[in-house]
Amino acid sequence: MHLEGSCRCGRVHFACEAYAPVPYLRCYCSICRKTAGGGGYAINLGAWKKTLDVEGRAFLGVYRARITDEGAPRTSSGRRHFCTRCGSALWLYDPTWPTLVHPHASAIDTPLPKPPERVHMCLDFKAPWVEVPRGRTDVHVARFPRESLEQWHRRHGLYDGRGRP
Ligand SMILES: [Zn+2]
Repeated sequence: MHLEGSCRCGRVHFACEAYAPVPYLRCYCSICRKTAGGGGYAINLGAWKKTLDVEGRAFLGVYRARITDEGAPRTSSGRRHFCTRCGSALWLYDPTWPTLVHPHASAIDTPLPKPPERVHMCLDFKAPWVEVPRGRTDVHVARFPRESLEQWHRRHGLYDGRGRP
């Protein structure tokens, strides 16, 4: 699915081809909540890095979070891109998966499909005031789901392989 996105002030615009465009995965970790999810979580989509086209690159900032894994502090491999003028979170790129880029659903202007099911992840790190929906189509995961964005989309018949590099 072709996606167009932008920051709030309009200095950064981007487009990409998404293989996983359904905003079903809500991440409640503190990095997502503080940098991109005022409501308690952020939603990442899956797209092909090679198709990412950016206008206004000069305004991009990159944030690499310091995290503590089992007591050992390190810098996250994920690079969170945002607009340095208005602060909008735009996408995450992690060189561990060099062909992928993960746009934030909140930055996308193209109308996204509504998810048939929602997966709530990293609930171990959720803020205490955040209430997680507990409906029939809500799935709860303490840390990371076993299914990748691609696998979830395939299972629901929503995978979009066009544009695969
Ligand atoms: Zn901006």
